[in-house]
Amino acid sequence: MSENYKDAVDTLKYCREHLGNITLEHKETYDLAIKALEKQILKKPIRNKRIKEIGKCPICKTELYIYDEDLHYCPTCGQALTLDSGGDGE
Ligand SMILES: [Zn+2]
Repeated sequence: MSENYKDAVDTLKYCREHLGNITLEHKETYDLAIKALEKQILKKPIRNKRIKEIGKCPICKTELYIYDEDLHYCPTCGQALTLDSGGDGE
């Protein structure tokens, strides 16, 4: 799933750079779409070395309780998060 988002981001970035006659307004639209999609690519929280239940969002540095099973997105910036404690089942 995450891989598909990466491909989509790459495609959008390519189009943004290589399409002819692209207006500034359209470039901004591409940037917006790229940013939104990049947030869907799963990232791991930055772990606190001393308190293992606490982590930080890798994007906006918001403190997160990382053993909360419902933690799938950063509540502040919306970055999709993955916890590596659950194994690689999916
Ligand atoms: Zn965040």
